[in-house]
Amino acid sequence: MSCNQLYCPWVQDSRDPDHYVCLKCDRERYINQSNNLSMLLIVVAIALILALLVGCAGKQETSPIESPNHSSSVKF
Ligand SMILES: [Zn+2]
Repeated sequence: MSCNQLYCPWVQDSRDPDHYVCLKCDRERYINQSNNLSMLLIVVAIALILALLVGCAGKQETSPIESPNHSSSVKF
C-alpha cells in the first residue's frame, strides 16, 4: 500500500524522536537529517548571496568618486 509522501500520516517512533514512520506505506523519515540538509543548503545560499553583495560593493567603492565641491554647487 503506497500513498503520496506529502500526505503520509507520519507517526513518531517512541524509541527515536527523530524517526518517523508512515502508517500506510511504512516509509521512514529522519527529521534531523532532512533539517541538516536544508539548513546546509540555506547557509550555502546565504553565503553565495553575501559574496555577490560584497563583490558588488567592492566594485562600487573602487570606482572614482566625484569631488564634494562639485555636488554642493549643483544645489544653488
Ligand atoms: Zn505513506
